[in-house]
Amino acid sequence: MKFYLSHPEFNRLQLNIRNILNLYFEDAYLFEGHGDNQVEIHQYDHGIQVALTIDNQHYQHELNKSSDDFKVFKRHINECLIHILTKHTGMHQSWGVLTGIRPTKLYHQMVQKGESHEAIKSHLKHTYLIDDEKIDLMRDIVKVQHEAIPDLYQLQDEVSIYIGIPFCPTKCAYCTFPAYAIQIHKKQVPEFLVGLLFEIEQIGQWLKTHQKKITTIYFGGGTPTSIKPEELKLLIEACYKHFDMTHVRELTIEAGRPDTIDEATLKVLNDYDIDRISINPQSFTDETLKAIGRHHTVQETIDKFQLSRAFHMNNINMDLIIGLPNESLTEMKHSLSEIKRLNPESLTVHTLSFKRASEMTRNKDKYQVADRTEVIKMMQLSQTFAKENGYIPYYLYRQKNILGNLENVGYAKANQSSLYNILIMEELQTIIGLGCGASSKFIHPKTKKIENYLNPKDPKSYNETYRHYTEMKINKLNTLFDVD
Ligand code: SF4
Repeated sequence: MKFYLSHPEFNRLQLNIRNILNLYFEDAYLFEGHGDNQVEIHQYDHGIQVALTIDNQHYQHELNKSSDDFKVFKRHINECLIHILTKHTGMHQSWGVLTGIRPTKLYHQMVQKGESHEAIKSHLKHTYLIDDEKIDLMRDIVKVQHEAIPDLYQLQDEVSIYIGIPFCPTKCAYCTFPAYAIQIHKKQVPEFLVGLLFEIEQIGQWLKTHQKKITTIYFGGGTPTSIKPEELKLLIEACYKHFDMTHVRELTIEAGRPDTIDEATLKVLNDYDIDRISINPQSFTDETLKAIGRHHTVQETIDKFQLSRAFHMNNINMDLIIGLPNESLTEMKHSLSEIKRLNPESLTVHTLSFKRASEMTRNKDKYQVADRTEVIKMMQLSQTFAKENGYIPYYLYRQKNILGNLENVGYAKANQSSLYNILIMEELQTIIGLGCGASSKFIHPKTKKIENYLNPKDPKSYNETYRHYTEMKINKLNTLFDVD
């Protein structure tokens, strides 16, 4: 759907306006100039008026608010557009004008300024048009995060480590992570490990020299358990050798694909007392797993979960995705009943998002997904399930092109929240990414300024450049923590 805007600040406004249009029309594009669907912005001394012509209907909304701050000006435009588009489509946006991916970060910022919940609520409601229910969810999550990490606002001088292993049994249709089919790429693993071990050694040395504590370590990817047990052992051993593990509060290994879990791998985890893993069913319907290219069965998820329990995995997370192809409330109910039976310590409920580079987005016509109303009902069902079964929400994030403009919510039983998930989501400390496609997030301890560095996504480029990326990270750490 094409929209047009003629405005001297078109370039600075286009992304913002398109994000709002996308909340209502997933295929909305904004062009400079004039056309049938026209956005107009008029500024007055005392306020702003936004007019929209759409499908030959004309709407306008006026706000008696003005600001010299361009960010605030954009928010005023969004507010007008939300009023107009809600009227035109009848669709309600429970997150209001907020299109960012970390709503709770906004809440934390206000808490750090010493504001009360009532003041925060009023601000989020009137400035961002967020529903009460979502604001209360944000409040509850922030509270649980403080219980899990009481010194959450004092961890800026510590770091967490993310280790990216870019291999999986097959690539899921919705995936845009670095995930190379292990059977085809297994010969690349030893060479990849050379680079990764170099990174672990160099960064470990820097952290020890400068006495920086590590709060959490997270192995993700890909699926780290795709590599051979002896290769995984080598990696964990390297962590114990080069990192000071004394202060590490949590070590997690993604074992997302049940088809990568076996006794030998679990024994390795046992050897290092690692009991926190993720086993991700995504759905408990075999047809769905086939449709999304998972190449494992529901039974295998159940068997591997039980095997993991037998090997003392005491903190298991399971992921479900709302809105997978051909799924409705019925399949969601079934998945939740299976979760109840297995009783993992945490449950992450994602809502399907059409990421640009995924197979699912490239061939969108091939995949039938539930409509917005059904997706919202599925989300509500998961919320009720969580409440009734002792799962407490402890982090949330949103994504672009997410079905129903909903969110992803991580739930956990009491005291079982993943500390790493909280730290990465709230951007309260530096996360150093090692390995393929690993993203480093450098957060200045005082100014809070954030800089992201991304390691190459494919093993070949990684192998060619890991020394350079390690050096860049060490230079960055030197400046960030003001050391030579
Ligand atoms: S298991 Fe995860 S990382 Fe691997 S292909 Fe599927 S979504 Fe991507």
